[in-house]
Amino acid sequence: MFDNYKKFLDIFTQDIEAMFEHQKDYIFCKEGCSHCCEYGEYPFCEIEFLYLIEGYEKLPQDIQQKIRDNFASIKKDENGYYVCPFLIDKKCSVYSNRALVCRTFGLLNKEADGTVNGPFCGKLGLNYSNVYDKDTKQLLMDVIEENHYKHLPRVFNLNIDNIRKLDLVKDLGIEFGVQKTLYEWLESYFNE
Ligand code: SF4
Ligand code: SF4
Repeated sequence: MFDNYKKFLDIFTQDIEAMFEHQKDYIFCKEGCSHCCEYGEYPFCEIEFLYLIEGYEKLPQDIQQKIRDNFASIKKDENGYYVCPFLIDKKCSVYSNRALVCRTFGLLNKEADGTVNGPFCGKLGLNYSNVYDKDTKQLLMDVIEENHYKHLPRVFNLNIDNIRKLDLVKDLGIEFGVQKTLYEWLESYFNE
């Protein structure tokens, strides 16, 4: 069922990893940092959710129970944001099966209207915080020039709507299906 999706994920993930490497002057990710999994809605398409669940169902029973407990105790804030229930001890319990948005956390994103959005953790002094002004939503070109960074910041449209249109997706015949938040998917899954 997931053969072509896995082929897509392999290529997509390699591209994303290359992007992180290319952008390392602006990246502050390190083991134990999990802010990106602690505050979000996590929009997943159906195939992403089903693949995530494939990973979940392979986990030991006690870890599965912990995830169910995490889900049951989710408290959303006023924006509807919450801690991902798959985050355990600051690590993703379904890392190999994580969704696309999880793989792009921490990079700059270009919206359809051309606006550059910095990653959420830039507000915490992490990724791109050295070269992005969150108030004006602009890259600080003077700072970039002054610091002679090896590479300029790269901005891609990493939104799922754009990813769905990639030739690779079409060539592999991948159907992403409907999109819902992780909370909505899990609500149906756990209450089945
Ligand atoms: S993307 Fe941001 S919050 Fe997530 S691990 Fe990297 S630095 Fe930490
Ligand atoms: S599925 Fe894993 S990587 Fe994605 S938000 Fe949850 S804990 Fe983070």
